Amino acid sequence: MDKILKDALINENKRQNEGLELIASENFVTKEIRSLQGSIVTNKYAEGYPGRRYYGGCEYIDIMESRAIELACKLFNAKYANVQPHSGSSANMIVYYALLDTGDKILSLSLDEGGHLTHGSPVSFSSRYYDIAHYNLGEDEKLDYEAIREVALKERPKLLLAGFSSYPYKTDYKKFREIADEVGAYLLVDMAHIAGLVAGGVHENPVDYAHVVTSTTHKTLRGPRGGLILTNDEDIANKINKATFPALQGGPLEHVIAAKAQCFYEASQSEFRDYAKQVVKNTKAAADEFAKLDAIVSGTDTHLFLLNTKATYGISGKDAEDLLGEVNITLNKNMLPNDKERSSVTSGVRIGFAALTTRGLKEDGAKKVAQIIHNYLSKTVDIKKTKEAVSQLTNELKQVEQL
Ligand SMILES: *Cc1c(COP(=O)(O)O)cnc(C)c1O
Repeated sequence: MDKILKDALINENKRQNEGLELIASENFVTKEIRSLQGSIVTNKYAEGYPGRRYYGGCEYIDIMESRAIELACKLFNAKYANVQPHSGSSANMIVYYALLDTGDKILSLSLDEGGHLTHGSPVSFSSRYYDIAHYNLGEDEKLDYEAIREVALKERPKLLLAGFSSYPYKTDYKKFREIADEVGAYLLVDMAHIAGLVAGGVHENPVDYAHVVTSTTHKTLRGPRGGLILTNDEDIANKINKATFPALQGGPLEHVIAAKAQCFYEASQSEFRDYAKQVVKNTKAAADEFAKLDAIVSGTDTHLFLLNTKATYGISGKDAEDLLGEVNITLNKNMLPNDKERSSVTSGVRIGFAALTTRGLKEDGAKKVAQIIHNYLSKTVDIKKTKEAVSQLTNELKQVEQL
């Protein structure tokens, strides 16, 4: 192997083991998933769908992709699944392409308040090709369904979007569907962040309410990096298949699809239900601990919460991210609702526990993580002692092995 790559790989493995990974969108996959994703399946071209390919020699690939579809449908109680989207962003692009014409209106939460780039951010393709309107969070920083209904009645979107990147509370999909029906819009739920909580039975299943559901497979769902689209509507399923291939993608990443199948298999085991429950418990334990320490922090009933570093420690989210990086705690700056700072600065950070829970962290450890961060950012414990505390904690966790 190229020496530069090999060294970087060894160092990345070390970094993953010696740090506290709190980025809410990350996780650690199993060896089985990595061995499929890194397998010889990457050698194969398979444009098309199982049984309808544009290349020969797809008999085993078809078994893998069919298995991924079957397991995805079973896991999320859906009639149709497309497992080919290369990422969560691609999945959203595919749904827009399938259901909308350019210039049609999408109503979503803005990126600043917890949405995603692909939900109509000015720097995303989505705002160039579609007409974007936003609803806002209420005073309590939670979804305000009556306000969403009013904006929907005024804006009359063709597609109503629910699903968020930094929203720490549960979503009422039934209410979203009622609003979509009232204004004659499609309801798209983007469950990229919480798919693992849905699979683990901790959150309601949006597939029961939405016209179409998109997801990533690599966040709480703990699979390979990729996208997924689910629906119960045959007509929508056909449009989505055509939009995926040939409209927007070429050859599917079948090695990733095989790994997705393994991810759906793992997520359907009872151990995964325990995992999803533990993620939420750990996150709550850490958020409660911050509150106990008088930090300004959101509530949570998901795998993440928001910490207001500006109000608590007098530093921006960016500075908090940098400072914590020095002691091997990895997280990301994040806009808070009504943030006055730019997105490159922000007033806070997003903290998630999906990854550390995979490494065996329990509530005690989660509280300790909160204390370490709080003590370091409020300058009551110095860098040396903080580093020691981090390494003591990471040594107690399961190790992340390179293949
Ligand atoms: C992460 C995320 C995506 C995009 O996923 P990528 O795989 O990074 O493209 C889409 N929507 C939401 C809500 C997300 O959080």
